[in-house]
Amino acid sequence: MLIDSHCHLGRFSERGDLDEVLNEASLAGVNRMITVGTDPDEWKLYQSLSARHEGVIDFAVGLHPSEVDSNWETKLEELRKYLELGSDHCPVAIGEMGLDYFHLPKDEEEKQTAIELQKQAFSAQLELARECGLPIIIHCRDSFDDCVKILDTSKTVWDRVVFHCFSGGKDEIDRINLRGGRGSFTGIVTYDNSSCEPVREALIEQGVERLLIETDCPYLTPVPHKGKENRPSYLRYTFQRIAAILQIPVLELEDEIAKNTLSFFNLK
Ligand SMILES: [Zn+2]
Ligand SMILES: [Zn+2]
Repeated sequence: MLIDSHCHLGRFSERGDLDEVLNEASLAGVNRMITVGTDPDEWKLYQSLSARHEGVIDFAVGLHPSEVDSNWETKLEELRKYLELGSDHCPVAIGEMGLDYFHLPKDEEEKQTAIELQKQAFSAQLELARECGLPIIIHCRDSFDDCVKILDTSKTVWDRVVFHCFSGGKDEIDRINLRGGRGSFTGIVTYDNSSCEPVREALIEQGVERLLIETDCPYLTPVPHKGKENRPSYLRYTFQRIAAILQIPVLELEDEIAKNTLSFFNLK
């Protein structure tokens, strides 16, 4: 069984081809996935998808740093409701949350304000995560030092933390692993450009023990479909490439990753 530990199913659902996409995933052996909500509309949609596709779709709720604005506190009040469900169809993780310094306003003053708001919303979500004890999905783009600093000062339990779409190198993965955290890898490892070499080095450095694998679809399509829209069924290509990089049989990798994913997200 392959589990896509991080995807965004909203586009397929809105377009009306989700059933087709799920069917195709199942044929490719991808029988389970976690769809990650980044704003209040998505949380609602993903909760209903997970209710409709029990045992196939689980969901996470978080306020993505690029969705943070001056209204973030109201949004987090909304998020809190999902964490208080305490029933079926509750989220399996909180996130994605974090810092994104890649998409920021050009104006220096607006930029600093945006960063400050992102930091506040990130810290507040870590606080929520501590209260509810759920695993934490981190989105970190061009902001590694600040992400680590905020996680450290928040006294977060690092073994519940995954840096999704890990795109750093050996040094960064060491800093995460030493604290007890982990990185989740995407189709980036299948890209042959030399700028992706450090990501492959980080993958080897972390090894299989704590590894998670994801599509982050509809983004980051792996080779050989790069350029097309990504979907959960393409997870298989990333698995094949990772098995080759780590020099272990694909089936063994599948077992290890299923085990890691089920236990990290506490899936039943
Ligand atoms: Zn992300
Ligand atoms: Zn994502």
